[in-house]
Amino acid sequence: MAGVVIVGGGHAGFQCIDSLRKGGYTDAITLIDAEPHLPYQRPPLSKSYLLDGADPDTLLFRTAAFFEEQRVEMRLGQRVESIDRGAKTLVLDNGEQVVYDQLVLAPGAQLRPLQIPADLADSVHYIKSLDDINGIREQLDAVEDVVVIGGGFIGLEFASTAVKLGKRVSVLVRGERILNQNVTPELSEYMLKEHQAQGADIRLNTRIETVNRLESGRLSILTQDGQQLECDLLVAGIGVTPAIGLAEQASLECDGGIRVDSYCRTSDPSIWAAGDAVSCEHPMAEGFTRIESVQNAVDQAKVIAANITGTPTTYDAVPWFWSDQYAHKIQMVGFHQGYDRVVQRGDMDSGKFTLFLYKGDQLIAVHTVNKPADHMAARKLLAAGISPSFEEAADESLKLNTLLKR
Ligand code: NAP
Repeated sequence: MAGVVIVGGGHAGFQCIDSLRKGGYTDAITLIDAEPHLPYQRPPLSKSYLLDGADPDTLLFRTAAFFEEQRVEMRLGQRVESIDRGAKTLVLDNGEQVVYDQLVLAPGAQLRPLQIPADLADSVHYIKSLDDINGIREQLDAVEDVVVIGGGFIGLEFASTAVKLGKRVSVLVRGERILNQNVTPELSEYMLKEHQAQGADIRLNTRIETVNRLESGRLSILTQDGQQLECDLLVAGIGVTPAIGLAEQASLECDGGIRVDSYCRTSDPSIWAAGDAVSCEHPMAEGFTRIESVQNAVDQAKVIAANITGTPTTYDAVPWFWSDQYAHKIQMVGFHQGYDRVVQRGDMDSGKFTLFLYKGDQLIAVHTVNKPADHMAARKLLAAGISPSFEEAADESLKLNTLLKR
């Protein structure tokens, strides 16, 4: 029996294994991943793993014994080159073939590379894999000045970690705002001030022109508007692109992501897909959307496992995200695109507040800073389709959970 073959050992791939076995799936499971490591958690890479100097094993979802007990054939350090859908067979980079009954694609996303002179490409560090971050860890003790390119989650989480480690940190942001794609201008402005207060030098509207290696070994960075910076470590976090090459090669329907239906099934009924690479419909979003988040990967993998084990399940979990920067836990739930009103609960100066984002009188997303209880309640409110009035949202004395009893 060929069983289920999972391509990609990230959050979606691991969750799929766990949920399949918990759901009673007894046939063969094979995991194929290009990285040589056992499946590990990525969120700590830019944060605690770097800060605490922890053992890499602390990142593992499970030890090797778990995969043995669960009878998972682990093909680590192997890459899938192509899918033959007719023969239900994968061809690997070592020439081997792997047969499947059901195929789960969880390929994630690939890094967007920084455009710099080719001979200096190796001088740029990225933060996606364990090997990436180990490369940074090895150098960090000798580093005084860090330049980060990109004002998204990776850039800012790494910047806050590097500041905590006593480094001088500059962040070059190409646009007018940090966290531009992810949070409202109010929250973006708040976090900008926090980064500046902690000592990070955040330069907005600043694009890199070129990079040179100095005789001292340091890097010299010239920006398009003529600013010059020197650093010992250059880190880029300028986004990712969905890894859809394999799906496209197999002529699965793609629209910039791997298209799936509400059951997370691709245009081939034997092939499912989960995670960053997937283009899906969601009851709270308009049209097809791609969601780059750990939680989305986990939720979609659970849906796939339920469908494979005979419980028809659609993907409708409310998406949520989080980011830790300095002492700030930023939590975001819902899809905020298209909001036309922000209602604030709590004083920003207190470092603990909640922003309710509405489209008309419909609550569509909630962003919190150091307000985990509000975040948890907001997840339930959004899942239940309950919109507090603007007055209720702003009223700190009103516990959000009480609104769930409506
Ligand atoms: P990101 O959050 O998409 O941010 C990318 C940043 O790079 C943005 O500031 C963007 O500017 C900028 N940028 C894009 N192209 C650029 C270019 N050519 N030159 C200079 N700047 C450029 O991506 P990321 O921070 O690299 O993170 C990678 C992935 O990991 C994302 O999927 C992210 O969601 C995920 N991640 C999530 C978390 C979390 O949820 N806590 C933490 C780390 C990573 P604009 O805003 O102007 O486009």
